[in-house]
Amino acid sequence: MKLSVLILPLLLFLGSAVHGQTALYQDAEAPIDDRVEDLLARMTVYEKIGQMTQLNIGTINTTGKQRDVVLDADKARDLLINHHIGSFLNGEAVPAEVWYEYMNELTRMAVEETRLGIPIIYGIDHIHGASYLEGSTIFPQSINLGATFNPEHSYNMGWVTAYESADLGHHWNFAPVLDLGTNPLWPRFWETFGEDPFMAAQMGAAYVKGLQENEEIGPYSIAATAKHFLAYSNPATGWDRTPVQISSQAMHEFHRPAFQAALDAGAKTVMLNSGEVNGLPVHGSKALVEGLLRQVMGFDGVVLTDWDDVGKLVDFHMVAENYKEATYRVVNAGVDMSMTPNTLDFNEALMELYEEGRISEERLDESVRRILRLKFELGLFEHPYPRNDRFDRIGTEESRLKALEAARESIVLLKNDGDVLPAASPARIVLAGPSADNKPNLSGGWTIAWQGAEPDRYPESMHTIYTALQQEYPEATITKLDSMPYDASSNQQRSFMRTLDQADMIVYAGGEEPYTEFVGNIHDLRLPADQLKEIAYLSKASTPLTLVLVQGRPRLITDVYEGVDAILFAGLPGFEGAEAIANVLSGKVNPSGKLPFSYPQHSNHYLPYNHKHTEVYYFDPDEANHISQQAMSSALFEFGHGLSYTSFEYSDLSLSATTMGAEGDTLKAYVTITNTGETLGMESLLWFLSNQVGYITRPVKELKHFDKITLHPGESETVAFYITADQQLWYPDADGQKVFETGYFTLSVGDLKQDFRLDMTRRAEVRR
Ligand code: BGC
Repeated sequence: MKLSVLILPLLLFLGSAVHGQTALYQDAEAPIDDRVEDLLARMTVYEKIGQMTQLNIGTINTTGKQRDVVLDADKARDLLINHHIGSFLNGEAVPAEVWYEYMNELTRMAVEETRLGIPIIYGIDHIHGASYLEGSTIFPQSINLGATFNPEHSYNMGWVTAYESADLGHHWNFAPVLDLGTNPLWPRFWETFGEDPFMAAQMGAAYVKGLQENEEIGPYSIAATAKHFLAYSNPATGWDRTPVQISSQAMHEFHRPAFQAALDAGAKTVMLNSGEVNGLPVHGSKALVEGLLRQVMGFDGVVLTDWDDVGKLVDFHMVAENYKEATYRVVNAGVDMSMTPNTLDFNEALMELYEEGRISEERLDESVRRILRLKFELGLFEHPYPRNDRFDRIGTEESRLKALEAARESIVLLKNDGDVLPAASPARIVLAGPSADNKPNLSGGWTIAWQGAEPDRYPESMHTIYTALQQEYPEATITKLDSMPYDASSNQQRSFMRTLDQADMIVYAGGEEPYTEFVGNIHDLRLPADQLKEIAYLSKASTPLTLVLVQGRPRLITDVYEGVDAILFAGLPGFEGAEAIANVLSGKVNPSGKLPFSYPQHSNHYLPYNHKHTEVYYFDPDEANHISQQAMSSALFEFGHGLSYTSFEYSDLSLSATTMGAEGDTLKAYVTITNTGETLGMESLLWFLSNQVGYITRPVKELKHFDKITLHPGESETVAFYITADQQLWYPDADGQKVFETGYFTLSVGDLKQDFRLDMTRRAEVRR
């Protein structure tokens, strides 16, 4: 191996056609496929293996730490020239100029000092705005975008991310996350768009388009990553990367659609689920990668493992005896690139497998072809270098307003007893809770750094809820409580209660500190006990108490629910989030967010809204068969729940027919919606379908369409939803094939319902 590593490239270099004249692969006018083949033909096996490897920033910076975006030229030169590494990843938020210097030099080495001058592709986790760049625009996290029911915000997030990071050489963004928020314990719940497959599909596709189709970033373009393929989000334990057991039918029905939609929208790459599904680690599963993703779903772009997943087959999943066998399994499963990320183990193992004849050069070529094609498609050969003449694009007021608008639409008013909100002009406000004056909590993980960062690394201009309330209510006296006088004398307690009673509004900002991945695993979904105690204490006052939940997953609040007057789910609203919360409290913004997940009520029972009838089998003495299928909803707040300061009335649901055939027919549904209150408001109309009888047990209902409209007081609008069998009236079987069945469906929107029948006798080919 050593010989081929050192001498062969030298010989090739001396005899290279590249020398002195333009090779075909360097000709920008030539077709990409021809350029790929030309370049491939010039590469040694070890050069090809290098392209299949992605290494972490710690292997090429001065200290080995993520935050250190300073190139160590010797380390980088060794990895680029001697090991031909084709991709690097990661970093943390540093100023644009620091990224520029680092990427410029790294690129220069790859382009000018390596034999073939293949540019590197750099991957990064800018998951809610360019979150690893100082001064960037930070959007709400995806769970909040789900709550907006407005894909435009997802598009904007992708667009602004590209706009602010493309010039820095950030070619490959590891977003969108297309997993589902169905297990509330899962520490990556907030990285999802919620529990609904259709919502994840709409939001994911919009993000891909915003990121990849942003023409302002020319001459650059950025690749999106559909991640983490597939069924990552349903670990039975609720803990990250622990086993998922799921039927193949359910995988097709619930987990595949968002990935399919992102691929259809053009997502250029896929990152695999690090965990195991039905006993098979996904990155080692030929059935899922080569079979489902490539052959069935038709994906021909680059497939990347997640972090150190080859190694995990050995020391975590224990399905491979050693690194070489793990490499064999992963490459054989169809993976193109290994996020190795800290060693050359993958390169060495793959070279040995090649030399032993276990992995052929043809197999390597398949992957390298895809990687090179990606590099050509992104224009890296023509425009490899970053640029530093457009930094004024970072953190513009226009982008900030886009993030603010997304945050405003994402706040969900869950409870508002006695219409205590909005509080237009309270003279005295008492503010308490761990998120009252805290920046990191508002943005969660993957912000500035992996687990969020120390408070002083957040922008000075960023508001906390405290400073946002000061801005919102300049006349008010705001008392910030740092502790409760539980153990104080009764006199002190009385005086404390007097302060509370004399206030016009009490706001408790509770929830969670930043986390992601296994660092955020918890044992108990309840809101931490100290917070429950504080809320209960504050609820003794006569002043209305508003609970603002700043959190990445629905922590249980059932114990304190009765005692609070109003509740806002603020999720992780990002850098503009505090302002958005203050705007909603004051009524400057009328809340329009709706829950994109079911908010659980009980610690040991949780069901998503689209559960099956058979998941509710509860004893009810009053029912003839003693089975209740509705009683005991396990949600405190249902999927789609969200109050407004105005009211909306749904009327005149009509269908263009009561029966439709499978082919060609379009059933047109209309509903009229009226703002019956006194305030301008936005309303998301959620259209659900229920398949009344199915050969395979069906969900009680499924979201199939949504619209968001704005109405003035007294204004009405008629909204349409067109249904075709091919779009909405089938479900997949265990092989992913479409099943159409004759039978009744119920369409519902708001509080209205109508049935119609799908008549399959009018279709030539009936599957079942
Ligand atoms: C996460 C991915 C992320 C990658 C690179 C992994 O641990 O699961 O979502 O893109 O690290 O930072």
